[in-house]
Amino acid sequence: MLPTPALQFGVREFGLDGGLMVTASHNPPEFNGVKVVASDGVEVSRGREAEIEALFFGGGPELCSWDGIGDVRSLDVLEPYRRAVLSHVDVDAVRGAGLRVALDPGNGVAGLTAPSVATELGCEVHTVNVDVDGMFPGRDSEPRPDNLDGLRALVEASGSDVGVAFDGDGDRSIFVDEGGEVHWGDRSFALVARDFLSRNPGTDVATPVSSSRVIEDVVSEGGGSVVWTKVGSVDVSRTMVDSGIVLGGEENGGIMYGPLLQVRDGTMAMALILEIMARSGRPLSELLGELPQYSQGKGRVACPNDVKGRVLEELRGSVEAPRVETVDGLKLGYPDGSWILVRPSGTEPVFRLYAEAGSGERVDQLIGKHRALIESVVESLG
Ligand code: MG
Repeated sequence: MLPTPALQFGVREFGLDGGLMVTASHNPPEFNGVKVVASDGVEVSRGREAEIEALFFGGGPELCSWDGIGDVRSLDVLEPYRRAVLSHVDVDAVRGAGLRVALDPGNGVAGLTAPSVATELGCEVHTVNVDVDGMFPGRDSEPRPDNLDGLRALVEASGSDVGVAFDGDGDRSIFVDEGGEVHWGDRSFALVARDFLSRNPGTDVATPVSSSRVIEDVVSEGGGSVVWTKVGSVDVSRTMVDSGIVLGGEENGGIMYGPLLQVRDGTMAMALILEIMARSGRPLSELLGELPQYSQGKGRVACPNDVKGRVLEELRGSVEAPRVETVDGLKLGYPDGSWILVRPSGTEPVFRLYAEAGSGERVDQLIGKHRALIESVVESLG
């Protein structure tokens, strides 16, 4: 048992041809899945995944006999992984700060890495849901603002400077400030990006088109550019690898710190935030509070699957927006800094709408206007 990012590190570190992670990631206990890792330590691309699935479901590869399996060896990956994480932060600075940390791995495998890394960083560590148990008895394995009451109570009871919650396979992390407030992943990612760019000005950062404008704000302030990707961690990671980008992240708490590996890593993200807190000497609420604030909203519009492509085309032709991004669905940016993303659902006959603006009214207006536009295009196409 080990976190997905630790396996990914191990595949690359030990020069293996690939890796298979058996995990349902952030999903409930009745589910399971397999994450396929390439020899570079990063999940295989979507195309490669499709090839593997075609092979598997097309009768599968030929099975070898029981005595033809070859060597089976065990490797200790956890210890080299922890050392690698620590090598990417200023251990002395964090130790000197004497931070108090509350950790909630949600009974997932981050319990095998996060508490020991925080201890190595000289933190006083408090934990909840730390025993690894795939039935996830403590909370859902996806950390969300509505299921982190246990962690918030622990932060308060222990007087911790920060709380960190992880998903089931330890690649995502969500942060709680010293006052017990849960902050969504786009803000912790923005904090990491701002700090990284202050020390590495001009760095490009990869993030899905659905990410908050706060990412763009901190990246452009640091002289870098945002490279937009399709929604999905594999797309961000593979874009980073292909374009040599060293920092990436998602709003759901997946931070990809390329100097270690271009994959989401909850324990690495925790170490980075602890380092930022230690060097600044300021409370997390203050650090996050000074980032720009935006209102966000979501909506949906019914649309038959077979006309989705044409609807997007029509919409693109009929809307006047100074900024248009088509890497995944249609993202329209307006002069006041607001934006809306129209994405076809992969599973339902609907478009999903995501909007962000300086005020809640503007968000509602954007969603209402584009919903009406899409409805009229759908109608005109019969
Ligand atoms: Mg996960």
